[in-house]
Amino acid sequence: MLQPFPFPYQTITLYPMVDQTIRIIYGKDAKAMAKALLDSYGLSDAIQGKESFVLKPNLVNPTRPENGATTHTGILEAVIEYLQAEGKKDITIAESSWVGASTEEAFSVNGYRKLADRYGIRLLDIKKDRFRTLSYDGISMEISETILSADYLINLPVLKGHCQTRITSAMKNLKGCISDRSKREFHRLGLMKPIAALNMLVKPSLTIVDSICGDLDFEEGGTPVETDRMMLSSDPIALDILGASLMGYAPEEIPYITIAAAYSGRSARLEDLEIIELNKPEKGSARPKGTAGRLATHTDPDEACSACYASLIHALKRLDDEGGLGKLKGRRIAVGQGWRGKSMDIGSGACCQKALHGVKGCPPSASDILDMLNNL
Ligand code: SF4
Repeated sequence: MLQPFPFPYQTITLYPMVDQTIRIIYGKDAKAMAKALLDSYGLSDAIQGKESFVLKPNLVNPTRPENGATTHTGILEAVIEYLQAEGKKDITIAESSWVGASTEEAFSVNGYRKLADRYGIRLLDIKKDRFRTLSYDGISMEISETILSADYLINLPVLKGHCQTRITSAMKNLKGCISDRSKREFHRLGLMKPIAALNMLVKPSLTIVDSICGDLDFEEGGTPVETDRMMLSSDPIALDILGASLMGYAPEEIPYITIAAAYSGRSARLEDLEIIELNKPEKGSARPKGTAGRLATHTDPDEACSACYASLIHALKRLDDEGGLGKLKGRRIAVGQGWRGKSMDIGSGACCQKALHGVKGCPPSASDILDMLNNL
C-alpha cells in the first residue's frame, strides 16, 4: 500500500543554489599560487564581455605583508597579468586604509605605486572617491562610486585575527569600500550587522584570500602566523565560513557570517562547502614569535607544514582565550611529518595518527583541533 507523502508534516529546508566551491593552494610564492588558482577557476571565461576591473586589496595601514596585515603584491601581479593577457585595459587598484591611516602611504610602503607604474594601471585612494549612499535593512552607508560601477570586482583580503570581530577576511575587507564617515558609523553600530548589510550591497565577482601569513589576533599585524595558503572562490560567505574554521571558530561565533547568510536565505554550514585542493602543504620552518611563540611552547613540532602548525597555534590561542590552556598540564602536542609512524600522547594532523588523543586532517582545521583539546 502506498504510504502518504510526509509533506507538510516534515520540515524540508530548501536553500537557493549558491556555488560554494573553494579552491585552495599551498606554497610561499604568492604570484605563482594566485596564477594557478586563476587558471584552475577559468577566469578567462568568467570575464568575457567585462571591461572595467577593480582590485580591492587589504591595506589597512602602511605595513608590509610579512607583518600579517596586508595583501602580498604578487597576488595583484598575477591578476593584472592575467587580465592584461586577456586584452583588458581598464584596471584599477582601489583601497581605503582604516580611519587615521594614509592609504597613499600604504600604497608606497607596500610597493603598489611601483606596481601600478609598471603595469600602467590606475591606483585609487577610495577616501578621495565620490560616494553613493545606499541602504540595506535600515543601515545606510556611503559606498565608493568606483567600486559600484566596476564590471568585475576582485576582492583580495587577508585572512587574519581581529580584536572585535574575531576574524577578518573576505566579507569584512569590503569595509575599505566605504567612506571614513560610514566606517565610524559601522563601529558605532557594533560592526556585525553593518558588515553583513554591506555585503548585500557590494558583491565581488571573485575573491582571492591571502592566507600566507595573517596575524594571530589583530588586523593591523605584528604577530604574523606563517600559513603558506591561498583560497579562491566566487562566494565571500563560503570563504569566511572556512576562514573561521581555520582560525578555530564556528560560523555562529562570527555574527556577520550568519546574519549575511540569513539575509541571503542560505546555509552557513561548513559541511556545505566544496573544497578543491590544488596541491598539498609542504614542510615549513616557521618559528612563531610573540604571543604565537608563547603558545608554541605547548607544541612539539617535527617537520611540520606551515598550514598544519598554524592551525595548531590558532587552536591554542582559542583555548587560551577560553582559559583552558591549563588543562594541558605541561603536555605538548606533536605536529609534523617527522612524527609519522611514531606513537605519542597528543598529536595534531594525519601524520600523528598514532596519537592517543589526536585529530585527523591534512592539515586539520583549528576548530577540529580545539574540539579535540576541549575533550582531553
Ligand atoms: S598532517 Fe602532516 S603532511 Fe598533512 S599538513 Fe600536517 S604535517 Fe603536513
